Amino acid sequence: MKRALLIVISSPSGGGKTTLCQRLLAMDDATVQSVSCTTRAARPGEVDGKHYHFISVAEFERRMAAGEFLEHAKVHGHLYGTLRAPVAEAIRSGKSVLLAIDVQGAAQVRDSVRRLPAGDAMRRGYMDVFIQPPSLEALRRRLVGRGQDRPEVIERRLAAAEAEMRRAAEYGTVIVNDDFDTAAAELMAVVERERNGGSA
Ligand code: ADP
Ligand code: 5GP
Repeated sequence: MKRALLIVISSPSGGGKTTLCQRLLAMDDATVQSVSCTTRAARPGEVDGKHYHFISVAEFERRMAAGEFLEHAKVHGHLYGTLRAPVAEAIRSGKSVLLAIDVQGAAQVRDSVRRLPAGDAMRRGYMDVFIQPPSLEALRRRLVGRGQDRPEVIERRLAAAEAEMRRAAEYGTVIVNDDFDTAAAELMAVVERERNGGSA
């Protein structure tokens, strides 16, 4: 019986986690992506309920107080959080769940999973991956090339990237996203290994 995984993936903004997660989800119908809540505005093309649940700060705080989040954090000036119930429900039904979240949120999930009983499905299926850009210069090129953020937003994200990359060692696996297909193959291999119980 294959294991339902809780797959946490982080990278600096522009590191490639969205593109890598899309590839993983396209190749693997046993995995679903968690839809986070955020207080930031939707970007052109983003759909409420699909890319994020776009909610107000007041609504976010209400959900926080009600304990609805598995983790939550302020990232680049906005609030983001993962809802606990859909993640638990997916794991219970045997699906693997992908969380593409920042380093603060990943640390919270790691800590709360460690406190679960040893036999808990979420604890047994927990794995985390940090996606590292080949260099800060490459990261800048990708953020500019993506064409979604204003220059000052890109500078803020690059400044945050250095601090985020210093936390890569907290993750079980680090993948350098230089050649995309190589990085995607590495990600799929590590997921498959964990799904089979940690052996190759
Ligand atoms: P994130 O979700 O981590 O912010 P994205 O997945 O949006 O990052 O990737 C940022 C940009 O870099 C996108 O335009 C994407 O197509 C591009 N990209 C991702 N991986 C690579 C790669 N290995 N080589 C070149 N460009 C890449
Ligand atoms: P963006 O606004 O570019 O979609 O995401 C900005 C950052 O917020 C990324 O690092 C992304 O991984 C992170 N993020 C997205 N959703 C969540 C979440 O639910 N929790 C946390 N902690 N970070 C998130």
